Amino acid sequence: MNIVVIGAGYAGLTAALRLDRTHHITLISAEAHFTQRIRLHELAAGRPTVRVPLAELTHGTGIETVVARVAALGPSARVVRTEDGREFGYDTLVYALGSRTDVSVPGVAEHAFTAESAAALRTRLASGGGDVAVVGGGLTGVEMAAELAETYPAWQVTLVSGNEPVLSARGRRHVAGALSRLGVTTRYGVRASGVSAGTVHTTDGDISADVVVWAGSFTVPTLAAEAGLTVDARGRAVVDATMRSVSHPDVYVVGDAAAVRIPGAGESRMSCAAGMPIAAHAADSVNARAAGRQARPFRFRYLIQCVSIGRHDGLIQFVRHDDSPVETVLLGRLAAFVKEQVCRFTVGSLRLERRRPGTYLWPKGKARATRTLTTAP
Ligand SMILES: Cc1cc2nc3c(=O)[nH]c(=O)nc-3n(C[C@H](O)[C@H](O)[C@H](O)COP(=O)(O)OP(=O)(O)OC[C@H]3O[C@@H](n4cnc5c(N)ncnc54)[C@H](O)[C@@H]3O)c2cc1C
Repeated sequence: MNIVVIGAGYAGLTAALRLDRTHHITLISAEAHFTQRIRLHELAAGRPTVRVPLAELTHGTGIETVVARVAALGPSARVVRTEDGREFGYDTLVYALGSRTDVSVPGVAEHAFTAESAAALRTRLASGGGDVAVVGGGLTGVEMAAELAETYPAWQVTLVSGNEPVLSARGRRHVAGALSRLGVTTRYGVRASGVSAGTVHTTDGDISADVVVWAGSFTVPTLAAEAGLTVDARGRAVVDATMRSVSHPDVYVVGDAAAVRIPGAGESRMSCAAGMPIAAHAADSVNARAAGRQARPFRFRYLIQCVSIGRHDGLIQFVRHDDSPVETVLLGRLAAFVKEQVCRFTVGSLRLERRRPGTYLWPKGKARATRTLTTAP
């Protein structure tokens, strides 16, 4: 079978490396390297690199890597078109184009840095000093604000957000204390409506900032919707319990780009925590069907959320199966150590899948009924 995987992030690589190697597998990636997105705030704070060459991760697997940007899908003809004018036919497509920071708020694209521009942000902050506003109080915003405050003492960091991060009371107290020790000013309950040169416009008036870092929500590429795949309100392709598009059975969608209904936990959160299991399960589904076996429904439970607060502090927030926080937490250096191990595990499991496909495991929880189950081979 001819399988094309588009996107070589956590999800695309997990799927590509886990597929049976009796298939002809083509991996189309915009870049010749894998970017460890979960370390982009570290890159902004001086980490030398967050890249791993794709050649290293796919070495010896027989996977054909093509470096090109996907421009369009032609699902009726079963082709992927790339910006350089090539076409790649497939029997099965794995769509793994991920997400990026949503910059649709007025002025953000022109005047703010994001995780994706972390290298340019580092260059900007490495010289001089002044005020930095990090906008977005989710875990990405907290991690970014803490990392910048720790690394660049000449800059005064303010975290601006409509809400506090969703954590347990102990978790929130720890984050608040740690940010305060690092000198970060927090302005919760303040919604940003736009950015212009040197200013964040908010519901609570304008905030002056020499540098603005936008750490708001993620958005997904529009290619799935443009190709006619059924998508949800956020543009994520809706899949069944085997990760197959509900509208296009020869297309599997994985990672942030997929709207996966997790039994008992609602729609999947854009995260590696869910995205890598989703991708591994998609590969298992493709392998099973190709071998004439029935694909199984997805099982998954959230276990922890990991937050780095600079290089020496952190928070491991234990969660229920549905991702809601419980009071159990790990704090401080121990949490920072665990978070670092989790970051290493993501790349380590890709390396392991390269050598031994099928070895990546994830927390599954109890079997639950699902209404979206489709198990036809
Ligand atoms: C600063 C930061 C910290 C984070 N921390 C955590 C964390 O602690 N835990 C956690 O679970 N999640 C975390 N996340 C979220 C996590 O990074 C994403 O959920 C994860 O990267 C999704 O994996 P993915 O493979 O679906 O997408 P991605 O990692 O985004 O990979 C998608 C790939 O597709 C490529 N691509 C896109 N468009 C095209 C195209 N047209 N043609 C070809 N290739 C294309 C991209 O270049 C990329 O290589 C964090 C994110 C950020 C930004």
